[in-house]
Amino acid sequence: MKILVLNAGSSSHKCCLYTIKGAIPESPATPLWEAQLDWHAPNHAALVVKTAAGEQREEDLSSVTRADALSHLLETLWQGETQAIQNLQEIDVVGHRVVHGGQAYQASVRVTDEVKDAIATLSPLAPTHNPAHLEGIEIIERLLGQVPQVAVFDTAFHSQMPAAAAIYPGPYDWIEQGIRRYGFHGISHQYCTQRAFQILGRTVERLIVCHLGNGASLTAVKNGQSINTTMGYTPLDGLMMGTRSGAVDPGILIHLMRQGHTADQLDRLLNKESGLKGISGISHDLRKIEDAIVSDQPASKRGASLTAIANGSERAKLARDIYLHRLKSCLGEMLVSLGGLDALVFTAGIGEHSASIRAETCEALAFLGLQIDLAQNDSSPVDQDIARANSTARVLVIKTQEDWAIAQACYEHL
Ligand code: ADP
Repeated sequence: MKILVLNAGSSSHKCCLYTIKGAIPESPATPLWEAQLDWHAPNHAALVVKTAAGEQREEDLSSVTRADALSHLLETLWQGETQAIQNLQEIDVVGHRVVHGGQAYQASVRVTDEVKDAIATLSPLAPTHNPAHLEGIEIIERLLGQVPQVAVFDTAFHSQMPAAAAIYPGPYDWIEQGIRRYGFHGISHQYCTQRAFQILGRTVERLIVCHLGNGASLTAVKNGQSINTTMGYTPLDGLMMGTRSGAVDPGILIHLMRQGHTADQLDRLLNKESGLKGISGISHDLRKIEDAIVSDQPASKRGASLTAIANGSERAKLARDIYLHRLKSCLGEMLVSLGGLDALVFTAGIGEHSASIRAETCEALAFLGLQIDLAQNDSSPVDQDIARANSTARVLVIKTQEDWAIAQACYEHL
């Protein structure tokens, strides 16, 4: 079965093609073809296409609409040097990542007019994402006619959270208005849970997944089910992120509104000008922040452990310190929700690649008897257990594979 996966965001479209024959393989499959469209301006995008056969194509698309650019991206699937299929009719199913499924969708569904209406209705809750998903679904309808399409929701994994975790302690009528904790990154949290069980060769009762990318969230997973998570009604809640503040005292917003800030200004402030970028003033990217801390050191001290560096660029160091403080505080919340810990998973850009963030996070959990093998932690582990044999909990570094998870959901649907 040939499965096309579309992951549409506000400023990028990622797309890949998988083929699955027979039983779903245990390890993630490599896509036959993958393409990414990054929007630099409303009518200007950069396209990069890669195939499993090693072909690569890069193009600058100017004066294009989003629909034209996506059609062009799909042409590279069956035309030219990056061709992976003979024609678009070979595609059996198209899977879409949909960020917000609200309360109605607790699992992936076949796209119908009703599902499209629901995605549109939920757009105010995910204003940069849901309209882009809908656009992707409609473009596929135009190009591929009646091909089955499946919506896989980022909120679905959290939909069974206990009411006490999902409902905010605001006025009761918020519940009727749908103002509640939905949680996000669910495709990644669910994938990492299942992958952790595969790697360990057994299920575990109490697991915490740390999805630490530009967006970041933690999920407490009990017997395979999400029971608590740090993101809330929107993906702004919880941990400090690349440009998002995470949770702040809501009284700050009331104060700023009284000073004359509009809703749009607060939206920009909290979503785009806060987090690692806002505090460091350097970048949303942790690598650049760590470089600034290190390069501010005398040459004799460079290469020393980051925790040992006392005089780094002050704002960069503060940003990193707050990031870790928020991460540890939220981990405490997840830990207590679970009543202990059997396994901890690190995933996404920072979780997969920052050995120092993993080491310092685990150090904070040493009181539980959790211990990692520092050499293994430093050796760029992928899908590995890095805990020491005598650790009281396993610690896994897992490459998140949201697109592969969507492909699996499509396969199971058909
Ligand atoms: P997204 O949430 O946009 O999918 P990713 O999961 O790819 O993002 O994470 C991107 C972030 O991962 C970067 O902004 C950077 O902060 C971080 N990152 C990637 N590699 C490293 C590394 N080696 N060390 C520290 N941080 C890293």
